[in-house]
Amino acid sequence: MIYDVIIIGAGPAGLAAGLYSSRARLNTLIIEKDGDGGQIATTDEVANYPGSIENASGPSLIARMVEQVNEFGAKKVNDEIKSVELNGDIKVLKGAKEEYQAKTVIIATGATPKPIGCPGEKELTGRGVSYCATCDAAFFEDLEVFVVGGGDSAVEEAMYLTKFARKVTIVHRRDELRAAKSIQEKAFKNEKMNFMWDTTITELKGDGILESMIVKNVKTGEEKEIFADEDDGTFGVFVFVGYNPATKLFDGIIDMEDGYIKTDADMKTNIPGVFAAGDNRVKSLRQVVTATADGAIAAVQAEKYINEHFED
Ligand code: NAP
Repeated sequence: MIYDVIIIGAGPAGLAAGLYSSRARLNTLIIEKDGDGGQIATTDEVANYPGSIENASGPSLIARMVEQVNEFGAKKVNDEIKSVELNGDIKVLKGAKEEYQAKTVIIATGATPKPIGCPGEKELTGRGVSYCATCDAAFFEDLEVFVVGGGDSAVEEAMYLTKFARKVTIVHRRDELRAAKSIQEKAFKNEKMNFMWDTTITELKGDGILESMIVKNVKTGEEKEIFADEDDGTFGVFVFVGYNPATKLFDGIIDMEDGYIKTDADMKTNIPGVFAAGDNRVKSLRQVVTATADGAIAAVQAEKYINEHFED
């Protein structure tokens, strides 16, 4: 069986691609190795996706996307692609369970935020610990928040958080930021911004909600525990220490920049018939709304490619 389109990944980008390609009556297969939804499946409230109201949760949004894709006849399988041959007219994907063939491939494998990697982080994610300011800032209205990292993401997201939080403190492992100078200048001018230099978080603590954390000065080795203000009961820790795009499979095969797949505005990679969509590609905003847009564009371009390269 040779599919018209195989989509790797069933997050918002992959599901949007699946919707558009199956609506275009292309024979479509979506391959997902875990559960549907990617990062958004673990988000409690999706308040920034247009039309998402009444406390729409990540899982409910994804469930509706899956239902819509099923309605138009895209096939979905659970498998993990282990190797790919993308250069021929027919692309070959070798999964742990089966081998798949297609005229076009849309890579929608996503990315995951890198964790700090300290005790308590996993348990308190969504309970004070967050990796997305756009998603969660509003939950910290008038509370205190700490932002881990010193790159562009950390500083820009920290600035965004100052619109909500009472006080924002960047916790950085060195004594100077990595972020672009122009971004730094704005941060240093912002009265709500504070900086805790040469510091790492070694433990996050709390009973069901973040209540305290242990920080360590990496130069002196000194450790101290920081507690939530008594009236607040909790505080926020936003982690921006980089992302891991899920692109290892394509190392040395597809052009990338810092591990992210390079595409043009039509989601085309350097390999004809191979497209990328969503958080795994080079872009400036990684959100559901941009992922779904990428997926739609990739599917439309896949259709165009098939019409141009294959006889009926
Ligand atoms: P990044 O530039 O890789 O910065 C990661 C930051 O986290 C660094 O300051 C790093 O510290 C720190 N870090 C890494 N691992 C850590 C750990 N285990 N514990 C504590 N701190 C840790 O990542 P990013 O800020 O997400 O940016 C990724 C890319 O997107 C960059 O190329 C960036 O320029 C770009 N970006 C651009 C914009 C913009 O132009 N507006 C906005 C966002 C992102 P060190 O500095 O000590 O290494």
